[in-house]
Amino acid sequence: MFAANFEYHRAGSVAEARQLLAAHPGAKLLAGGHSLIPLLKLRLAAPEAVIDIGRIGELRGISNGGGALRIGALTTHAEIASSDAVKSGAAALAEAAGLIGDPAVRNRGTIGGNVAHADPASDLPTVLIALDATFTVNSPDGERSVSAADFFQGMMATALGEHDILTAVNVPAGGGGSAYVKFSHPASRYAVVGAAASLTVAGGTCTSASVAVGGATAVPARCASVEAALAGQALSADVIAAAAAAAGGDLGDDLLGDVFASGDYRRAVTPVYVQRALAAAAERAG
Ligand SMILES: Cc1cc2nc3c(=O)[nH]c(=O)nc-3n(C[C@H](O)[C@H](O)[C@H](O)COP(=O)(O)OP(=O)(O)OC[C@H]3O[C@@H](n4cnc5c(N)ncnc54)[C@H](O)[C@@H]3O)c2cc1C
Repeated sequence: MFAANFEYHRAGSVAEARQLLAAHPGAKLLAGGHSLIPLLKLRLAAPEAVIDIGRIGELRGISNGGGALRIGALTTHAEIASSDAVKSGAAALAEAAGLIGDPAVRNRGTIGGNVAHADPASDLPTVLIALDATFTVNSPDGERSVSAADFFQGMMATALGEHDILTAVNVPAGGGGSAYVKFSHPASRYAVVGAAASLTVAGGTCTSASVAVGGATAVPARCASVEAALAGQALSADVIAAAAAAAGGDLGDDLLGDVFASGDYRRAVTPVYVQRALAAAAERAG
């Protein structure tokens, strides 16, 4: 199927993209195109103009400073998966990026496009919520920072306004261990259920735990019961298993279901993936 006709504009800078957005109300930004192009071809979106930001150099790359990683919105999944800075500072993020789709998707798809699209089956929103990431947004009124907890607002709905450009994702780096595991859909590799855990350990006990589950609900769910069950505990296999068992209850009542996996099935497998993510994160946290 072909997309409806649209005007194509290529921006050379964020400032130029901003001007183009102002001149073309309802325009869509194009990054890697791996979510937007299918939507256009299925005619689920039919903007009058598409603004290609894919070659804006200032939106690409990973830097490490002040205890945080700054990842430009156009950084690809493959670049994140292979980055030594991400692997050592935010292992769950490198792990999740490396599990996305296939090599073509990982080499074209970007972190900015992934989170702006906010597909409930995407991997990166889950990890970025567990890692307490923040998003840098360039808007007509200037720049603002949005926490991951506030950024994802519903199924394919985010805090981004029509004229906003996501410029970077900022991830706290180091000081613990993190991991991401998922049950992938066998065809697309999207997450049927994905679990991210971030743990810090001092003196043999858990001093902080952050756990999120995606794929099962419209927005990844933070697992408060699991986190509470780990606080102050020595992270033995039994403690982890007992804490993970509570994860299904943290998903609420509105679970996603489709022909591949019902909501009940997603709830039932969630503790298994939370347990695996916690075990891997605990090993990394030392
Ligand atoms: C076969 C296939 C398998 C996939 N498997 C997975 C998977 O296993 N896990 C997973 O997480 N994802 C998966 N994806 C999705 C993939 O990660 C996409 O690349 C990603 O979701 C979108 O990134 P993109 O750069 O291609 O964005 P685009 O398609 O270019 O844009 C997506 C949306 O984000 C907006 N946007 C893009 N950049 C910005 C920005 N900087 N600021 C504001 N808005 C912006 C666009 O306007 C558009 O609405 C898969 C995709 C395909 C085609």
